[in-house]
Amino acid sequence: MNNVEPRPSAIHGIGLFATRDFTKGEHVVQYTGVIVHTPPQPDENGLIHAMELDVGRWIDGCGQENVARHANHSCEPNAESQPDGDIIQIVALRDISSGEEITFDYGYNLCAALSHPCRCGAKGCPGRIVATPLRTGIWKHFRIGRARD
Ligand SMILES: [Zn+2]
Repeated sequence: MNNVEPRPSAIHGIGLFATRDFTKGEHVVQYTGVIVHTPPQPDENGLIHAMELDVGRWIDGCGQENVARHANHSCEPNAESQPDGDIIQIVALRDISSGEEITFDYGYNLCAALSHPCRCGAKGCPGRIVATPLRTGIWKHFRIGRARD
């Protein structure tokens, strides 16, 4: 825990914050955990800490040593998750200053997005945690659901 640390976040609960400067492309932190073949279940707080490696394989990241599990989603993230074999690295998308909150795109599908509000505050945030390529889709989805006037 020398490069990042968990602290209270304005986005949601506890977030992950840089404790030193990072340059674009640099590995910020590794998402660690046990590889499982069934979808990880929520903990006692209803939170699931997991990353999908590929179809039917997840890293269960609920362990205390996995400090990366604190990283929040943002629609304007400064980092991204990059699978590397059986490892997932959180990598800086741009230069990050010490003290900044580390965020990445959780990449939720539309179904998951509907039950996960987003409060990242980024311009163009659809108010839901959803993968960037699907964001247009979710707007359409909400428009369909909106009362006609
Ligand atoms: Zn957002």
